[in-house]
Amino acid sequence: MIVYVESNLILEVVLQQEQVGPSCFLRRTFMAILGDLLCHDCKVRTCLGKWLREESNEGFGFWRGGLTFEELGLKTLQFLAQHMNHHIGIVTSGEMDRKNFWEYRAVEDDLSTAWPEKAAASPGDPTVLP
Ligand SMILES: [Zn+2]
Repeated sequence: MIVYVESNLILEVVLQQEQVGPSCFLRRTFMAILGDLLCHDCKVRTCLGKWLREESNEGFGFWRGGLTFEELGLKTLQFLAQHMNHHIGIVTSGEMDRKNFWEYRAVEDDLSTAWPEKAAASPGDPTVLP
């Protein structure tokens, strides 16, 4: 995968065909929009990074510098696991501004990029810890 970031506002992503499939071979340049995942009950948020989308605004992923897609996915899953049955939202940076969600505490640095060690250490059913 090759990622070009032209400026803070413009993102151009070129994905190699064999990694993501023929429909995602080339993305045109367009304005970058950030996505944030929120828990309204706990008043916390984690940044998902730049929203990857078609020109029609159909999203297909997020890109966050310094993290692989797997690491970002693991952080996101840990966030969701910590806030099961809470009021979760996903918003753009514009919505963050409009609704003043920036006051929510950022927790992305607290989230792990590794598979949960507790699940790996529990043979049999990894969903229930002894
Ligand atoms: Zn919560």
